[in-house]
Amino acid sequence: MNKRVLVKFSGEALAGADGYGIDTQILDYIANEIKELVNNNIEVGIVIGGGNIIRGVTAAADGVIKRTSADYMGMLATVINGVAMQEALEHKGLSARLQTAIKMEQIAEPFIVRKAQRHLEKGRVVIFSAGTGNPYFTTDTAATLRATEIDAAMLIKATKVDGVYDKDPMKYEDAVKLDTITYDKALEDHIKVMDDTAIALAKDNKLPIVVANMNEKGNLLKIIQGDYSKCSIVK
Ligand code: UDP
Repeated sequence: MNKRVLVKFSGEALAGADGYGIDTQILDYIANEIKELVNNNIEVGIVIGGGNIIRGVTAAADGVIKRTSADYMGMLATVINGVAMQEALEHKGLSARLQTAIKMEQIAEPFIVRKAQRHLEKGRVVIFSAGTGNPYFTTDTAATLRATEIDAAMLIKATKVDGVYDKDPMKYEDAVKLDTITYDKALEDHIKVMDDTAIALAKDNKLPIVVANMNEKGNLLKIIQGDYSKCSIVK
């Protein structure tokens, strides 16, 4: 089986218990999970958020920093996380390439879809950083965009929960996980795990979004192999 997927990690996923910065043990865990995919001939693209360092909306909240500038700061944060992820993957013996939507040649390749595709064909993991390169977007939208551009079979959003629930599972004990949910229903309910722009883009391009628990070891591989018990699929 030769499959191409894009996995999205939030910036917060990289932070340790204090919710800030980069915990190298978590990076190492993620790199292991990705290695399992590569070892099974799966071509992997990665998008990482920047919320562990800075989020545009929060940084611009009191008006001192303009939203557009705050968003650029957020995009830069994703590059920091991308550099760290590239290191963690290489530390595991994988071949990885960091691309960025905002040019910074000393640090990463510029995003060029044909180049990304070539890397993927060669078994290299490609990390897409700096989001879409535009303010007012999120890395969830960037992940949907990149997944579509590289023609990924699915976008896996790696989270701390097993999927999409009928109500907040952190608040309600009787929350029920939904195995599948249509794009329209996800949009109507404004599901918390994915923003509407990303869902609308996925809908237009018929890209399945799999919301999965990243802390369940081996879950990413299981999902790609067809075991959907620890995830929800928006399709
Ligand atoms: N961002 C942006 N355009 C993009 C992607 C991200 O302006 O295409 C900025 C935005 O300020 C966002 C920050 O980068 O808050 C970090 O990304 P995000 O909040 O999506 O990270 P996550 O929540 O996944 O950690």
